[in-house]
Amino acid sequence: MATTWAWPRGPRQRLPRTVTPFACEAATSYTERLAHANHIGVHTLRSHISESCNARPRSDWLAAVCGQPVHVIQTRLRGLAGDLAALKQSLRRPLCRRCMAGKGIHQPVYCYLPAHVTVCRRHRRWIGPPAHNLDDQFDLQDRPHVLRAARTHQCLAHQHTEVDLRAALGDARHMLVYWAHAEHREAAAILQTGLHASVAAYPQMIAVAATLLKVSAQFEHPGPPTRSGTVALLINRINERIATKHIDSAPVEQWVHNR
Ligand SMILES: [Zn+2]
Repeated sequence: MATTWAWPRGPRQRLPRTVTPFACEAATSYTERLAHANHIGVHTLRSHISESCNARPRSDWLAAVCGQPVHVIQTRLRGLAGDLAALKQSLRRPLCRRCMAGKGIHQPVYCYLPAHVTVCRRHRRWIGPPAHNLDDQFDLQDRPHVLRAARTHQCLAHQHTEVDLRAALGDARHMLVYWAHAEHREAAAILQTGLHASVAAYPQMIAVAATLLKVSAQFEHPGPPTRSGTVALLINRINERIATKHIDSAPVEQWVHNR
């Protein structure tokens, strides 16, 4: 009986120069950096490491050309062929350009960063959403309140689940939007879109979310305060924390009602 041999497929030779992948780096970002380091076209490289021109790179083929162990490629890169995890485009953003320059990397390194990673503390640059490119990483030297908010955000991410933190941030946004409309502050950053408005609204968002999470925890203890007591406590704490004088308690009452 004749034996059918599969014709060997995929690349056999490794490129002269390798590139180290970063944790959670987008496979597209990595292949671009690898192509750039080896002075070859990115489409040429992709056609060698993918089953078809529109397909994602195969980890074994990519490992063969870049010379990195296949398990390193699989654990660090996101968006490889067969990777079923959903890729949230809102989390895809470049690592701090100054940190990368310090490592001799001058190409953008796009990673799927956790939502709470918003600032490079070493260089005091914004790297949070919606920073899509390196030019969006603006200087925060003169914005200590944004740097403080980023630290608080990081602490909240360690103290609470991702679901609880995301919900608290959503509730905080809802309250701030409500007050901006109710108080006729049409120019308020929370009502605007874009990078600078998002960063301007960020400290208040974090402060209100932190307050909500703290008060939420009190509901879990025996003998929680009364509903009206909680509304008064919350609105006082929010006003104190973000130095405002919101009087309309409707969004806070709604929040307490939904507990
Ligand atoms: Zn940096």
